[in-house]
Amino acid sequence: PNGAIFRAKTDDATITAYKSGKVLFQGKNPEKEAMIWMQFEKKTSNPSSIPAQTSRDKALAVVNHHHIGSDESGTGDYFGPITACAVYVKEEQIEHLRAIGIQDSKAIQDHTIKKLVKQLIELQIPYSSVVLSNEKYNKLQAAGWSQGKMKAMLHDTAIKHVHEKNGSDLGTIPIVIDQFCTPKVYANYLRSENLTIPPQTHFMTKAETYSIAVATASVIARSRFIDEMDRLSEVIGEALLKGASKKVDAQIANIIHTHGENILSSIAKVHFANTNKAKLL
Ligand code: MN
Repeated sequence: PNGAIFRAKTDDATITAYKSGKVLFQGKNPEKEAMIWMQFEKKTSNPSSIPAQTSRDKALAVVNHHHIGSDESGTGDYFGPITACAVYVKEEQIEHLRAIGIQDSKAIQDHTIKKLVKQLIELQIPYSSVVLSNEKYNKLQAAGWSQGKMKAMLHDTAIKHVHEKNGSDLGTIPIVIDQFCTPKVYANYLRSENLTIPPQTHFMTKAETYSIAVATASVIARSRFIDEMDRLSEVIGEALLKGASKKVDAQIANIIHTHGENILSSIAKVHFANTNKAKLL
């Protein structure tokens, strides 16, 4: 495009950098790609601004003690909702949770996820999980909400539920959020809905690796996503595919053919490029 230095495409986004210094992230999941680059921002920006590392350092300092962790699932999948979960882990539970195999849900197979969730329930680990249905997702998206804002609202809801479930003394417990946007952008998302971010909130990327609470949250969020996918698959009469690959495009084309395009609003994230690709099929 005019005035651009380059344009690049990844699985998640189209990136266009302009001579003016502006960089545009567009496409299916632009926040994910933008996140990778934000960590470099501080080196060139105003030195008086708070370094991006601060929140991460604070997060690293709390993950070995009691804390709340939150994570989400389903954001890159064409079919199914977005889910989020917040979990409260006490210091004396950390070792046991690692021992039973809790880790980043992306490294665990679906059938193992189910077994782990059963164990978590037996351990009575306090958690709250929330589901944003496809109907609601598509409405918010059409109303101008970014996926980032939806995620922020889901994390916030789950985190505040965990606090409520456990009484007011949790108000001071540190919170670690698996970072999907800058802390500033997260706070702005909340502020736009008249909500405030608890002051003891810390952000870090790849938090599942460092925080057992975030890892546990990733497992429960994933489990809820799988449950919802099973439920929607039953409604449609075939196993809906996860992800957003070409195979998914073919399945969408079939579903449009059998059920009509309108059904997509209740089972899919219709703004993904897959919808138009399927129509061409
Ligand atoms: Mn995550």
